[in-house]
Amino acid sequence: MGAGPTVGVLALQGDFREHIAVFSGLGIAARPVRRAEELDEIDGLVIPGGESSVMDKLSRTFGLAEPLKAAIADGLPVYGTCAGLIMLSDTVLDAIEGQQSLGGLDVAVRRNAFGNQLDSFETDLDIPELGAPPVHAAFIRAPIVESVGESVKVLSALDDGRVVAVEQGNLLGTSFHPEITGETRFHSYFASHLS
Ligand code: GLN
Repeated sequence: MGAGPTVGVLALQGDFREHIAVFSGLGIAARPVRRAEELDEIDGLVIPGGESSVMDKLSRTFGLAEPLKAAIADGLPVYGTCAGLIMLSDTVLDAIEGQQSLGGLDVAVRRNAFGNQLDSFETDLDIPELGAPPVHAAFIRAPIVESVGESVKVLSALDDGRVVAVEQGNLLGTSFHPEITGETRFHSYFASHLS
């Protein structure tokens, strides 16, 4: 292993390969995570986009949900994109029957918040923490952060004020997918906080 941190990417379902490719392109070691034991071998974790209800079921079936919750509570840095943000949210609105999240982020997110008309779209977002130029963000059946607790920092919102990127302690979440538009600054930002 090299001297730098190793990032795990939860690889139960969704676009985990794209995240691994972004980290690899940045020269940051990244590996898929499918088993609880693998959580001991990483310095941070990405939960990718995909389908949160499926990811929830698989994480419970494979005995990963409880170890993941414990790791989050223990301070493991975790970055969730889209379905990953849903997994990190304490409250999930418009969840399917029985759907659970891991929680940790003191936010309420609404799944599929843009409805059928605007299922998927791309836009540029100003994110002061990442500097110029704006982040080109792809939203795909994306959630919106509807409310945030006191200790949550809002990193970005759409022009109409709807929140799409948040940070709270060891947790980072975006409604959108930076990993598919050639944007690497979120991954660098996340990795820069890992030991
Ligand atoms: N709509 C999906 C969900 O509820 C998220 C979509 C995505 O991750 N691109 O999990």
